[in-house]
Order: sequence, then structure tokens, then C-alpha cells
Amino acid sequence: LITSATSPGLYVIHIAAEMAPVAKVGGLGDVISGLCKALQKKGHLVEIVLPKYDCIQYDRIRDFRALDAVIESYFDGQLFKNKIWVGTIEGLPVYFIEPHHPDKFFWRGNFYGEHDDFRRFSYFSRAALEFLLQAGKKPDIIHCHDWQTAFVAPLYWDIYAPKGLNSARICFTCHNFEYQGTAAASQLKSCGLDAHHLNRPDRMQDNSSHDRVNSVKGGVVFSNIVTTVSPTYAQEVRTAEGGQGLHSTLSTHSKKFIGILNGIDTDAWNPATDPFLEVQYNANDLQGKAQNKEALRRNLGLSSADVRRPLVGCITRLVPQKGVHLIRHAIYRTLELGGQFVLLGSSPVPHIQREFEGIANNFQNHDHARLILKYDESLSHVIYAASDMFIIPSIFEPCGLTQMISMRYGAIPIARKTGGLNDSVFDVDDDTIPSQFQNGFTFLSADEPGINSALERAFNLFKNNTESWQQLVRKDMNIDFSWDSSAAQYEELYSMSVARARATKRD
Ligand code: ADP
Repeated sequence: LITSATSPGLYVIHIAAEMAPVAKVGGLGDVISGLCKALQKKGHLVEIVLPKYDCIQYDRIRDFRALDAVIESYFDGQLFKNKIWVGTIEGLPVYFIEPHHPDKFFWRGNFYGEHDDFRRFSYFSRAALEFLLQAGKKPDIIHCHDWQTAFVAPLYWDIYAPKGLNSARICFTCHNFEYQGTAAASQLKSCGLDAHHLNRPDRMQDNSSHDRVNSVKGGVVFSNIVTTVSPTYAQEVRTAEGGQGLHSTLSTHSKKFIGILNGIDTDAWNPATDPFLEVQYNANDLQGKAQNKEALRRNLGLSSADVRRPLVGCITRLVPQKGVHLIRHAIYRTLELGGQFVLLGSSPVPHIQREFEGIANNFQNHDHARLILKYDESLSHVIYAASDMFIIPSIFEPCGLTQMISMRYGAIPIARKTGGLNDSVFDVDDDTIPSQFQNGFTFLSADEPGINSALERAFNLFKNNTESWQQLVRKDMNIDFSWDSSAAQYEELYSMSVARARATKRD
């Protein structure tokens, strides 16, 4: 097995279900690669453990190879073999676990949404820790993410620390409290956790169903550090309305719970070097941006007759959280206001996918609107570059990355004031906000008049004051959304937790 080099910084291992660009469903994938790169740049030794899905983009992994050793891990009362693979993704060392289990957990052509997700990811969490133990790794921090790997926290303290994998503090980040990973308490047994011991209100018992356990709750209760992805969302989830049933648990554990705004990977999202764009551009060359708008219109068959017609973009998972009814409304309102609309999105919810397919068909040959209902990384870059405005009318939004990416590409965000959007988009017409921070258009009420008001203000400025609009575009493109300051906050949390553990050991 690969042994870990010594490093003057901390040794941090992330265990996660996604990592951009090889295995990305949404923001979690971006966060894993962005945060890990930033931590590595600060001098820490960072490694990542992922499931070896069949649908990984293997061509983006360098030096990919299987290790000689096979790791046996426990599930359902038996030991199963796991092949371990290793490779480098954007300079980061990544281990992949390939279970040899008859259920073919990661051979489904899909990352999530399988009937046995609870089993798949509780298996993975245990196999990942087993690998760290058998590889003799001595991390300072094990950082797990979302319900899929929140099992790591109770598994670590109940099973792996007693076995000798005991150098680490556990950090758990919840990227979205809507997804909690609940199941009948008896299902915990499969990965070796003691259901009887853990199915208690102060441990893993689901707050609304006493015979169910909740993986995210386990992550919160059993981790040393608990974070979520923006300060506003951290406040919202401590309330009964926003906490998705976990507000009381989060309040009990509030001393170790904090919201840190995500950054974006400014190398991957850089209009000046972006290989997906027809023309690279920067804040001093908005002509380049205009050429990308022209190229997208041509490629999608939209009218190019009026250069000044504003293009509104939207790139999102089409789920209720994202305000799908407001997205639908914004398409029609944009056309009424004389704009063009491009949506790139796909939905795991069949009735929403069907509804948007219907709208997409209506606009199939339309001069000013196009809906592309799939996941398409390269097209997403082109849309960010081509858009003048970008809408994010989320009902709730833990952090949101698309507002930051759009600003970096000079597309002005029109966003609902919630969660991380409230921490990163500041209205140009709000006098209470110092002008240097004003960067977009916001609205509060999650209804049609709400989004109309922001959209109309944006159209007014775009049409009537080109000079101010371009100034705003240049200002947004120069905002620092890199991971530097957020990674520094994680670094500080890690260091404080490690120092506390060492002080306790000395006492
Ligand atoms: P969430 O994690 O809730 O999906 P975020 O705003 O945090 O939302 O992250 C969304 C990320 O996924 C962004 O990088 C965005 O560009 C990308 N994305 C969303 N939908 C698509 C799609 N259909 N095609 C390509 N990229 C997409």
C-alpha cells in the first residue's frame, strides 16, 4: 500500500461520494476538489477516498492503477474483498474503493438514486475506514461529507478508534440538510454499527420517527467539527422552518457547528483560460464575452439579429429546492421583457423532467428561448460565458455555486435572498449595502411578483445604462471567489480541534 509522506502541515483525508470533474452530480463535487486543492496549496497533505463508480470519467484521472493489496471489510456479518485503486486528479491523490460484493454497489451507471443507497454508502463508509486502518494511515483529520459518508463519524468512534485508527479528529460537512439518509434502525447493523446503542434520541434516532435512524444526525452528534456551507444557512437550519427536522439537534450541538461559505475552483472556472470557450476573455475585454454570446446563439439556433438583446442563463438541477415554478415563470417573463433565455438542467424527479420536456418542445424552434435538459459540463461553461444575467430563484440554497461562477464570467446574478445566496449576492439598489459590495439583483418573496421585480430592475439597467451595466460586469468578474479565505477557515477549525485533542491527551 501507498504510505503517506510526512508533511509539515496537517494530514487531512476526505471521504466523499463526489469529486469534480470525475464524479460530479452537483456542488459537493466542486467543493471536494476546490477545498482539497486549496488545502494542499497551503502545505497540508490531503488525500481523498471515493467509491469506484463505473460511471466515473476515467480519462480525467492520471496514473490510475490498482494497488496489490486487497482490503477485506465487514458487511452483513461477512467479510467482502475490496480492490483499491489510486490515481491523481488535478494534482490530488485519490483512492477508489471497488467492492467485490454481489450487489455490485457501484456498478449501476448512476451515482445516486438507487433503491439501496443506504446500504451502498454505509458499506462504502466502512470500507473506507477499513482501508485507512489497514494502510496504516495516521491522519490528523478525517473529513466526511453529506449523509452518504456521515456514517464515518459513528463508525470511527465505535469501531475504528478502538481498533487503533485513533489519530484523527472527525469533521463533518453537511452540504444540504434536505438529504439526511434515513432508514429502519435495523439497517444500521449491516455496516457493523450497534442499532440498539445508536437508536436513541441523543444519538442517531431520526427526530420524527422513532424506529428510524438518520445518518446526518449521526454525523452531527459524533463529529468533533460540524460545518455547513454558508453562515446564513447555518442560522436557517437552526430554526424549525429551515432545519428539516434537525434544528433541535443542531442547536444542542451549536458550539461545534459553523457555516463557512464555499469558494469556487478559480482555475477550473476562469474565462481567461477556459478551454471550453470559443474566445477566452477577461474583465478588460468584454468584446470576448460578446463573441461567446454570439457563438452560443449560433450553436443553439437562437436569433442574433439584435446584439443588445439580453441573454438570461440558468444552470441547475431541476428540483423543488431550486424554485422550478419561478424558473418556469422567468422564461416567459424574460421573453415578454424582450430577452433571450437559455436553461441547462436535468431533473431526477420524473414529473418535473416531463413538465420541462413539454416546455422545451414548445420552444424547440423559438428565436429566443432554448431548454437543454441534460447534464453537460462543457455547455455549462459556454452558457456562463454567453449570459448577461443569470437567475437563481431558490426556495432554499445551502451555498450555491452558480451565482459565484456566473459573476466570474460576467453574468449578473438575479437571486433569491436565502442561504449562501444571501451571503454572496448583494443588491445594487440596496442603500444599506456599501456600494463596493453591490453585485447583483435580489428578491425575498418566493413568488412571481418577487422575481419579476428583480428581473425588471436588471433589464432596466441593462437597456438604459450600458455604462453602469458594463462597470457592474467588470466589478463582478474581479470579485475574489477563490477558496483561499474559506480554506483558511477550515484550516483554523482543523488546527484548533487537533490542538484540543493533543492538550486533552497530555492532561
Ligand atoms: P447543487 O449542489 O444544489 O446542485 P450548486 O449551485 O451548489 O447546486 O452547484 C451546482 C453545480 O453543478 C455548478 O457547478 C453547476 O454549474 C453544475 N450544474 C448543475 N446542473 C448542471 C447541468 N445540467 N449541466 C452541467 N452542470 C450543471
